[in-house]
Parts: sequence; structure tokens; C-alpha cells
Amino acid sequence: MRRPFVAANWKMHKTVQETVAYARDFVPRVEAVTDVDIVIAPPFLALSALVEATANSRVRVAAQTVHAESHGAFTGEVSLGMLKGSGVTLVIIGHSERRHLFGETDAGVNAKTQATVDAGLTPIVCVGETLEERKSDRTFEVLDRQIRDGLSGLSPDQVAALVVAYEPVWAIGTGRNATPDQADEAHRHIRQQLVSQFGDRAAACRLIYGGSVTPGNVAELRARPQVDGALVGGASLDPASFAEIVAGSRPTAI
Ligand code: PEP
Repeated sequence: MRRPFVAANWKMHKTVQETVAYARDFVPRVEAVTDVDIVIAPPFLALSALVEATANSRVRVAAQTVHAESHGAFTGEVSLGMLKGSGVTLVIIGHSERRHLFGETDAGVNAKTQATVDAGLTPIVCVGETLEERKSDRTFEVLDRQIRDGLSGLSPDQVAALVVAYEPVWAIGTGRNATPDQADEAHRHIRQQLVSQFGDRAAACRLIYGGSVTPGNVAELRARPQVDGALVGGASLDPASFAEIVAGSRPTAI
């Protein structure tokens, strides 16, 4: 059985002080949860503080993006060595906001994913179609391209160990989540695509859903066999709300 995986993506929210206060509130709320991987991705500046504040817990810390090169003249960028040195163990790659607002391409996602795996960190690779692509019946075509090009060159074992987040762009930050049927259909398709590209071993890859997940809808999404967890934006900013989402993702909650 695949272990549930729930990650918070804070985007550009929370100062260092707010991050520490959040951790003090959140960590005791999930102390008893031993059957879910719990991850928080704060802004870069708060990474070290969050690593320290969650040191005695099972909560792990992710970056929201990274640069694929190890060092050099890349003003404003952060490397995997820097993340690793700060105790960060996961990286979100190819979030739709990175793709659409900052021009990130499938080739860029591929370079970052390979570099992250090589550095021994876990990538959370985001894929998903826009509303226009869904309406024109191109959802699977887009997902296939993002998976094929974004994960190209990885070994089956490397794919099995990473996390893919299916995040339909039209559901992110809109309050309009995909229905459990839509999420299940997309996850099933992604898993088939992974297996056909990388072999049976890739079926172990965890597929999580992202897009307006809340404490109110997480259980019905997680109840679908292909949905291994959630990537949560807005509803993760409040510690009580994110703790409820973690609780609703436990195998025993389904
Ligand atoms: C996200 O940022 O990845 C996300 C899914 O946001 P929200 O939960 O706010 O839709």
C-alpha cells in the first residue's frame, strides 16, 4: 500500500516569525499521526526556521522551487546544495504558477527533477491542464506530455520514489476543486502513463491531488484508490485547517 502524503504549499505567505508561530501550533496537532507523510513548503527565507521548529517532529520541509545548477551566476536563485545544507528534504517542481507566471518549461522541470534526485532530495512534480485544455478535450494529451518530458531520463526506481501532484490549473486557488471522479480519472491515467513509460515499478509513485482542497472535501477525494494524498495551498495557511486535512488523509479516515 502506498503511504499517504500531504503537503502544504504556502506560496508567498508568512514571515519567519509567523512560520515559527505556525509550527508551535501545528506540530502538537499532528503529533499522533504516524501513518501520513506531512510536508510544509514555506518561502525560502523561512526554510531554516521551519526545519528548526519541526526538528523533533515527523513534519518535513520542502522548498517551492530550486535551480538545477549547483552554483554560479544566477542572481536570485537557490541551489540544491543550499537547500540540503539547511535540512530541506523535498522540492516542489513545476508548480503551475512557476510554469505560467515564470515561464517554466517541461525541459526545465526535467532538469530540476533530475538534479533534485541526484542530490538525494525528493521531488514533488506538479502536472495539470488549464481550463481551456480540459474544455477542448486535451487533458490527457497535456498530462502525457508533462510526464513524458518532465520525467524523461529518470530510472524506474527514481520515479517510484518521487511524488507527482495532479493539479488542474482551473482548480488552484479558485475554490472549485476537481470532483473525486475527475481526480480519480486523471490519477488513473497518470499512473498508466508512468507504467507504460517506466515499467511496473513506477506504479509505486505516489500521486497526490491539488486544487482547492479543504477539510470539507479531502475525505471524499482521498477515498478514491488512486488519490494518495493532497497538495494544499490556501487551506494550509491555518494550522488547524491543515491539521484537519492531514487527519482526513489518514488510511483510517477513509
Ligand atoms: C497549490 O498551490 O498547489 C494549490 C493547490 O492551491 P489551493 O489549495 O489554494 O488551490
